[in-house]
Amino acid sequence: MANEKFPNVSDRLTLNFVNTKISRNGKIIELLNSVEDFQNWIEQIILTGPKYSQQLEFIKEIYTNQEEFARLIEFRDYLYKELIYSIDSGSMSTSLTAFIEGISQYNPFIYKKIGSTFLILPKYIEREPIKNIILLDLIDMISENEFCKLKRCYNPQCVLLFVDKTGRRKWCSMKICGNRKKVERFSKK
Ligand SMILES: [Zn+2]
Repeated sequence: MANEKFPNVSDRLTLNFVNTKISRNGKIIELLNSVEDFQNWIEQIILTGPKYSQQLEFIKEIYTNQEEFARLIEFRDYLYKELIYSIDSGSMSTSLTAFIEGISQYNPFIYKKIGSTFLILPKYIEREPIKNIILLDLIDMISENEFCKLKRCYNPQCVLLFVDKTGRRKWCSMKICGNRKKVERFSKK
């Protein structure tokens, strides 16, 4: 399956979004190279079913043109940089704070009736709606006390981020980095 390549090491939409750039053998690898990659990512996210994945269905069509896709990547890279800053400094960057405060002025939220339920959605679907969806998840992370538990992977070559809920998690995933480190240690003996 072509879309198995996304690591999705977290149940947070925000982290799985920024973790679409990975590192392998010390080299950065871009997993979102095209509109099609992004559509595949959305499909994979929807399958795992985190909160706000229904919203992704709604914004899918917006990111089918190259210009919007380029803005999406720009936003992802910005977000990654701000999260790294927040992890390293121990507090949220002022830029990220301004983003959180500003986005709902740029694009407010509305409730839309879908079947028997109401879905929170960006009012202007054409106005970089991914920002609104990430905002919802970021606010959850903060209110659920997870933002302060953000961590970089213990493998210095790895660029993936995750929430360390137990205070003991070291690796983005055992499969990607944990086992590899164990094997290395073993072979050095
Ligand atoms: Zn890792």
